[in-house]
Amino acid sequence: MKTSQIPFRTLRDSPSEAIISSHQLMMRADLIRKLGNGLYTYMPFGLRAYRKLEKIIKEEIEASGAMEFKPTVIVPGDIWKESGRWETMGPQMLKAQNRQQQDMVVSPTAEEAYTAIMRQGLTSYKQLPINCYQINTKYRDEIRPRYGVMRGREFNMMDGYTLNADDESLDQSYQAYAKAYLRIFKRLGLDVITVKADTGAMGGSGSEEFMVESEIGDDTLILCKCGYAANVEKASCAKDIPVDIDGNPVKATEKSYEPISTPNVGTIDDLEKYLKCSKHQLLKTLIYKATNVCLDLSEVDCCKNLKTVTEGNIKFYPEVFVAVCIRGDLDINEAKLAGFLKASEVELATAEEDTKITGAPVGFAGPINLSNVPVIADNSVLDMHDFLVGANKADTHFVHVEYGRDFSAWKTADLRTAKAGDICPVCGKPFYTTKGNELGHIFKLGKKYTESMNVTYLDKNGKSAVPTMGCYGIGVDRVLASIIEAFHDDRGIIWPMSTAPYQVAIVPIKYSGAMKEAADKIYDELLKASVEVLLDDRDERPGVKFNDMDLIGFPVRITVGDKNLPNVEIKMRSSEQAELVPLENAAAKASEIVKTEFNKLNS
Ligand code: ATP
Ligand code: MG
Repeated sequence: MKTSQIPFRTLRDSPSEAIISSHQLMMRADLIRKLGNGLYTYMPFGLRAYRKLEKIIKEEIEASGAMEFKPTVIVPGDIWKESGRWETMGPQMLKAQNRQQQDMVVSPTAEEAYTAIMRQGLTSYKQLPINCYQINTKYRDEIRPRYGVMRGREFNMMDGYTLNADDESLDQSYQAYAKAYLRIFKRLGLDVITVKADTGAMGGSGSEEFMVESEIGDDTLILCKCGYAANVEKASCAKDIPVDIDGNPVKATEKSYEPISTPNVGTIDDLEKYLKCSKHQLLKTLIYKATNVCLDLSEVDCCKNLKTVTEGNIKFYPEVFVAVCIRGDLDINEAKLAGFLKASEVELATAEEDTKITGAPVGFAGPINLSNVPVIADNSVLDMHDFLVGANKADTHFVHVEYGRDFSAWKTADLRTAKAGDICPVCGKPFYTTKGNELGHIFKLGKKYTESMNVTYLDKNGKSAVPTMGCYGIGVDRVLASIIEAFHDDRGIIWPMSTAPYQVAIVPIKYSGAMKEAADKIYDELLKASVEVLLDDRDERPGVKFNDMDLIGFPVRITVGDKNLPNVEIKMRSSEQAELVPLENAAAKASEIVKTEFNKLNS
């Protein structure tokens, strides 16, 4: 290909909204152009890189045993109503109606579509497992699309799904996807960390995410030298015993609890100073509002009259307030709380809502005599003694409180946010943390969809059975952006050979006379050798051409200048060293570099 045939223009400066390198470089190199918030067009160079990435994903996923299928992107709302996610997916799902006022969904993911498609024609255990994937457009109405294609609204996902007869078969499918993912990331030159992930509102029994370390990562990874690795949404630490201000374990008290005056002292930090105590002796009580709660609350007295909605086989509460207690120095992990409540979202109640429930200003909530919302306690509370809680009255707290004696939570659970320094549950050493971006995800879903959407088959004994299910996703655009995050310098992108838009760029200082002849000769030879080559035939100053080729980041550059002829210069984008080679050998030399680079990635 010749540059004159390709519509592109590079930018000296990046748009001000682009704050991370990959976004800046993708815009400056004209790999993508913006059409709307979170909506990006792949331009020819960008699309070539994208297609290569897609091909690598396809090859490895198919080698692991999956077959490609292609559902539509727009799917009937009815299948989402069947699964119960029509409401619970929340506002990130884009809904529309057709001319017959039928509800439609622009797929944010495709568990429903896969299930509705594969249940057609499923009769016997002999057909299982069914393992299909697509690489297709998704739309999520992200609140804050950012970082270019790293978090877009429209994006492309490789999403695979399996229907399995039993847990053993599901585990095999799950492991096969995990292995395929690792091969994909190896071929892209990316180092990934596999972390345990939250199964959250999706339910299911196991989940791992494939993360790439990144300063601008949206996820916090909790890691231990022993190999423990989990997303902060999932990470749990070993329990630690509360200590007083002198570092001694807090002992149980025989004293009855009693009110003390704490005028305007509502926050944990202020209470710690005011009472000169340890935060381990303070209980934090937070009022949360949870949306679309699927957890059964029918046994909780104060929830008996709560509004419920039934969708398909799923019953849920559109809105529930809960009080959540945790030791004063710790933070509630909202993902864990949402997972526990099987809620689509949880957020802190507003001051007004808080006061309506507790009868006191924010800061004075406590679990004693709080009977109008369910009280849920983090496991840390079980080890606390002789502690302070809010009294649900302005400027008042209770001291000398004991759990189990003075109040009990409706449920206890692991709700605490793990952080650096917390104790690893596997080996007892302290955790450390890093930031990461999620590139892929594998998930044992269990029977959530197959049960709610009535999928059955006849098992070996001729009995009707419900298959179990797995889902597996890779964000193609996000992976592409992550490659650029990992491989660039201040001049531009440095593509790994596997995803470079072109492998070799030929830059004649001037595309005329002997230089044109030499450039054309190398170009033809490389084409014959099936090397992907780009010839910069533009009538531009050499500096402009060099800058553009470096910015777009082609791995090998061959410079043809009259001063060097009959030699030409070969330079890797990743190196500062250039090598002079005779014109005759240039194509062979470049082909060899391409091969060597591929071998490094594929080994
Ligand atoms: P995140 O927590 O980053 O929003 P997610 O948990 O919602 O991701 P999944 O539903 O597991 O993501 O989707 C599978 C993959 O799709 C993710 O691992 C990620 O690579 C990609 N992905 C998800 N949302 C986006 C988005 N808005 N833009 C680009 N890629 C995305
Ligand atoms: Mg998301």
